[in-house]
Amino acid sequence: MSVRSFIPQKLLHSASPVTGAFPGSICLLLSDEYALQLLGILGISFSFVMIIVAKKSADFTLHTLVLKNENAVLVHHMEEQVEQRTQKIYELSNLDPLTGLFNRTAFLSQLKSVIETSEKSFALLFIDLDGFKKINDSIGHKAGYEVLRQTARRLNECPLDSQLICRWGGDEFLVALENTDVATAVKNAELVIEMLSEPHNIENSALSVSATIGVSLYPDHAVSEDRLIQSADMAMYFQKKHAPSSVGVFSKQLEEIYSHELRLKNGLSVAIEKQELRVVFQPLILSGNHKPIAFEALLRWNLDGESIPPDAFIAIAEQYGFIHTIGAWVLRQACLQASQWGREHHLAVCVNVSVIQLQDENFLAIVDSALSNSLLPAGLLHIEITESVFASDISVISNQIKRLQSRGIKVSIDDFGTGYSSLSVMQELAVNVVKIDRSFVSQMNSNGYAIISAVMHIASLLDFLVVAEGVETEEQALELSNLGVHFLQGFYYSRPIEIEDIPAYLNGYILPNE
Ligand code: C2E
Ligand code: MG
Ligand code: MG
Repeated sequence: MSVRSFIPQKLLHSASPVTGAFPGSICLLLSDEYALQLLGILGISFSFVMIIVAKKSADFTLHTLVLKNENAVLVHHMEEQVEQRTQKIYELSNLDPLTGLFNRTAFLSQLKSVIETSEKSFALLFIDLDGFKKINDSIGHKAGYEVLRQTARRLNECPLDSQLICRWGGDEFLVALENTDVATAVKNAELVIEMLSEPHNIENSALSVSATIGVSLYPDHAVSEDRLIQSADMAMYFQKKHAPSSVGVFSKQLEEIYSHELRLKNGLSVAIEKQELRVVFQPLILSGNHKPIAFEALLRWNLDGESIPPDAFIAIAEQYGFIHTIGAWVLRQACLQASQWGREHHLAVCVNVSVIQLQDENFLAIVDSALSNSLLPAGLLHIEITESVFASDISVISNQIKRLQSRGIKVSIDDFGTGYSSLSVMQELAVNVVKIDRSFVSQMNSNGYAIISAVMHIASLLDFLVVAEGVETEEQALELSNLGVHFLQGFYYSRPIEIEDIPAYLNGYILPNE
């Protein structure tokens, strides 16, 4: 719209009364009388002056109005820009840019006001995608972002009757369900898992993820937004560990387990520094003659006067990455000790190694340095890996095993029979020793006997030696020897021994002339 169209037409003609006097003055000028002619001249001059004044005043008014209207357009434009910027600032500070869902800050403040106004109980769902990392790692971040966007869309479309949905970070989402009891919350969470598990069509392929959900309830489990989220997170964490892709509800018992884990985690981070770890050694006996041929190094941890068994802390050390430092420390200690008794009596040392350590690219360097530092011959070091290696990338494991064996180090499969072993993989890994799990030894009277005989048969075909673990009685020892088991280990022969007691133990078992 033109600025001129705003200006009233009247104003443009404001000089017309003055210009009306002009023709009269011309008439007077044309008269014969001098006085009238003078009047005519005066009239014409006056008219000119008035026309100029009127013109100037009209120009001024016109200019003012033009300016005013230009300002009005400018102000309107600025108001629009301010509105857009305010919206942008709101989005930047409240919404997650990828999904358009609430971000952490906004969700926390919304949840706070729900808590302040809510008179009924409500539930909080902590959703964590399962299999997302795999998509990100194998297909790429672009596909990962699309999965997150589609997940957000599905959560928005889910008939949950909730306005409070948030991307908490990474592949974690939160949903608050108002006026909900625990049964309804679990039902809704199951529905969410079902919806999120539908395949995603991305770049012409169907990608699948699922979700694990932890549920906490206000006010039963917590009354502050932080604690509520923490409780749902904890429930999700435990559920993912024990039954992924399902729903778990927070409980006080979970909180106790969690704080115990936290204590162990914090303790482990400084356990070496505080000299709380030590290694004990349990002998492996040559079948039939009570003679030790090796010692297995077993880790012990004393935390504030309490002895924590390895079964309770190794998994935590693995989970939080401490296993690398702790494992390297055990290797160094075991090699140092073994070099004292090993070379004299030709006794090997067996060191337990987690699959995570074995997969570490620095592992061989750590082993080499433990050997060179202790001067222990490589042939006296045995590495024990649990059967869980069968669930990992076999080609990586197989390569590591070959590299260890090429140095003269022997490799054993520990706890054989408890998990994932398959004969073809056993053949591929070509380990030197198999250690039959003690559960079969303790069941020698039932099906344990048949299983151990089968293992002995395979051992002769695939050419590996066999150790039976957990031998507790003379009867078991005899039966195992009769079955041809090469080495025996268990409380019947000796419990794990403290370092300082090893010389006495060896003096008792190794004859002076040997
Ligand atoms: P493992 O390697 O199979 O070690 C044998 C376990 O059986 C040891 O338990 C030992 O004390 C126990 N044992 C030996 N003989 C008998 C017996 O006759 N009866 C019974 N009931 N038990 C017997 P421990 O020391 O508690 O170790 C448990 C597991 O923790 C080990 O099983 C091993 O998998 C792991 N572990 C121990 N030290 C380390 C370590 O330094 N690194 C890693 N990664 N794992 C370790
Ligand atoms: Mg072992
Ligand atoms: Mg074992």
